Amino acid sequence: MLAPLKRITVPVTPFQQNCSVVWCGASGHGAVIDPGGDLDRIAARVKAEGIILDKVLLTHAHLDHAAGARVFADAFSIPIEGPEAEDEFWLASLPQQAARYGFPVAPTFTPDRWLVDGDTVSFGNETMQVLHCPGHTPGHVVFYHSSGVAFVGDVLFQGSIGRTDFPRGNHGQLIESIRSKLWPLGDDVTFVPGHGPESTFGFERRTNPFVADALFN
Ligand SMILES: [Zn+2]
Repeated sequence: MLAPLKRITVPVTPFQQNCSVVWCGASGHGAVIDPGGDLDRIAARVKAEGIILDKVLLTHAHLDHAAGARVFADAFSIPIEGPEAEDEFWLASLPQQAARYGFPVAPTFTPDRWLVDGDTVSFGNETMQVLHCPGHTPGHVVFYHSSGVAFVGDVLFQGSIGRTDFPRGNHGQLIESIRSKLWPLGDDVTFVPGHGPESTFGFERRTNPFVADALFN
């Protein structure tokens, strides 16, 4: 039987961004997805669960997801993987994004590994699939674990989808990413969005006012 991925969600920053800590129950090795801020609180949860961190994973380079990544990765001496390279211009502007929204100083950085569609990322005995889902940002990626959980960042929310009014956002592309990359993973997949409550792809296919199947028939 497939062991479920162990995971906890830690909402961080004034934007209440859902930072996830994921780990392998067998080895205790894990990763932190989108440590945008409130790093002490994330670190406390990591310590409380006895997790050995292998890496930081980033879905995209917006402030509330990525601003704490460099400091957090350095504190744990671990690499940063993701997002896809099209988000480089967002990473370059992290210091300005932080100043504008009153965040702690956020240095710009280059990830240790840019991700591309079809890549895998691993920690302990666990592996997640990388899906490039542009639209909210051009380099946005989603992490999917075969136990049936996806970490979708700001691609999809319960009852909504990501904003596309930022530079290089693209509404049509976002819809296409959701329908062509996420839906094929299956209706039963639970997803952790970047903000707000979890849901399933099946529920959104029935009810989401932006991407419900009925809108496209
Ligand atoms: Zn975002």
